[in-house]
Parts: sequence; structure tokens; C-alpha cells
Amino acid sequence: MRKLGIYISMVLIITILLPTVIVKTFKFVPKGNSAQGEALEEEIKPILEVEEKPIVVGYVYDKIKFYNNKSGLVEEMNIDDYVKGVVAAEMPAAFHIEALKAQAIAARTYAISRNLKYKEGHPDHSSAPICSGIHCQAYLSFSQLGELNGESWIENYWPKIEEAVNLTKGLGIFYNGEIIEPLYHSTSGGRTEDVKDVFAAELPYLKSVTSPYEEEAPKFKNTITLTTTEFIEKIKSKYPKVNLNKDNLPDKIKLIDRTITGRVKKIAIDGIILEGRDLRDLFALNSTNFIISMDKKLNIIDIETYGFGHGVGMSQWGANGMGKHGSNFEEILKHYYTGVEIRSISN
Ligand SMILES: [Zn+2]
Repeated sequence: MRKLGIYISMVLIITILLPTVIVKTFKFVPKGNSAQGEALEEEIKPILEVEEKPIVVGYVYDKIKFYNNKSGLVEEMNIDDYVKGVVAAEMPAAFHIEALKAQAIAARTYAISRNLKYKEGHPDHSSAPICSGIHCQAYLSFSQLGELNGESWIENYWPKIEEAVNLTKGLGIFYNGEIIEPLYHSTSGGRTEDVKDVFAAELPYLKSVTSPYEEEAPKFKNTITLTTTEFIEKIKSKYPKVNLNKDNLPDKIKLIDRTITGRVKKIAIDGIILEGRDLRDLFALNSTNFIISMDKKLNIIDIETYGFGHGVGMSQWGANGMGKHGSNFEEILKHYYTGVEIRSISN
């Protein structure tokens, strides 16, 4: 019989130290405390008064054409009907009404910007400028929503989705008079990313900003655990030439660069330089804001991630938090998209 004893495992932080800002700023709320099903106080604020002249975008925006990933068909429909299906697919309907309104404007703006940018079809789906999957922005039809969420969801939440879209009818997000490409994501983990650190594009309205009310997000923090062997095999499945074993692992994995928010930009594995998102894809991580730690004694690797999604633009859980703390949709959008205006769109 083995002697029982308490031993303290040597935990080696292989790569990245958790940014102290996250540790200091956020209290983690236990899982299960999601906004789904919560009775939210809904204070309906008046629609934003748009005093300036509508901005002409040169696009007939009352109809939208999209590629339906599920049916494989191209559909065309009224933009507000489309936006309702996007809001319902992209954001929990239990979220604060101001967050849903912000989401409606972001979805409308994104759809129009894609239609303007890819008039002849997107390179990845040449029959339409936008698709109904997460590749562009998710869309579900009314009947799909009924099948997925059930009758009571339709009764309780569909009117709220309609309200969010109808109360923001015709509004879009502009920077210097140009319609923007408003990227958004689920949970930033405390601070959003500058687009240049994630997609190598420079856009003045997609800067890194704080996202202070995300503690309720179920994916604010997440940990996956693997054995050292599983971890090494996973890496070798993609990069077969790496020379890794449980003894040399701490020396073979090096952090090269991370963004100001702590997301991994570049990492070296046995001399091969990878992007943070390469590792995110390989291990199906929630985000590139991760730390890897190894327990040598137990031969276990923990990968701890913060946030969910690419981290650029509006954080949906942050938007919900801002709504609950009294911000309206205009304040939410102007917080996450630096220097923008909310204006009426005209064709
Ligand atoms: Zn797409």
C-alpha cells in the first residue's frame, strides 16, 4: 500500500503569466449565473434622436441578399426581418434591451458594409456578399428559432427581438461619414483587442477598450486539462516534426509576443513560430487569451482561457453589463467602437 502523503506539485508556468490587470480587476462569478432566463428590468429608453441628415451609403438597404449555409441557397429578404434573425441567433434574448438594440444596429451595419464591400460576392461564398453562418454573422429564421428554442421562447422573447430591431430602424454606425465594419464577439475577458493585433488590419474605430461588466459571462474564464502525452500528440498531429517530450516541454515552448490585453500573438514550439490563433484552433480554445501550465508530477497540462471569441469590437456580454448598469445603445456602441456616430442610413 502506498503511503498517503500530501505533496506539493511543481507547477511550471511554461509560457504566459496571467496579466495582473485581470486578476486585480475582476471577480469571477460562478458558472450557471448566466443572463439566460433572468428576469431583467427593462427600461425602454426613447430612440436616439438623429438630428443630422441621413448618410447616403449608395446601397438599397431595405433588402439583403445572403447565402444560407444550411440550405445552400441564396436568399433575399427585408433587412429588418434579416436583422431580427441575426439578433436572435447572435445574442441571448434575455439580454438587456439596450444590448439587443446595440446588437441590432451592429448586425444591420455589418450586413450593409459587407454588401458594399463584396457587391459581386464574398471570396468564400461567391453567390452572396454575406452568409448565415458564424463566418459572417449567424442568422436563424423564425421557424428555426421555434424549433431550437421552443414555443415559450417565441412567446416570451420574439416580441423583445422585434422591439429591439424596430426601435433602431434605419440606424447604422459611421466613422468619418463612412459605414463601418462593426466586428463583435461574445466575451472579451476584460478588455477588447485592437483589430491590428488580431486581423492585421488598421481600423481607427476598432481599438482596444475596457469591457468592465463581463463577470456573469459563462465563458469569462475556462480551463481545459490534458495529459502531457495528449498535449504533445495534439501538437504533433499538426506539426509532426517537433521534438517534444514531457521532460523538454518547458524549454521547447516559448512565448514570443502577446497583445496589451494578454492575448498570445506569437508563440514558438521547438523553433516553429505559431500565431496565438493557430493554437486556439488546434486546441479549440475559447480565445487566444490563454496561459498554459504544466504539473510535472502529475503529467498534466492546464490551458486556462479568458474570454470567448476574437475579442475585437463590441463584447456582447459587456454590452449586456453596460445595459444593466444604465447605458443606452448609443453609449454601448460608442464605447466599443471608438469615435463613431450613430446615424440614419439612406439609400
Ligand atoms: Zn460568410
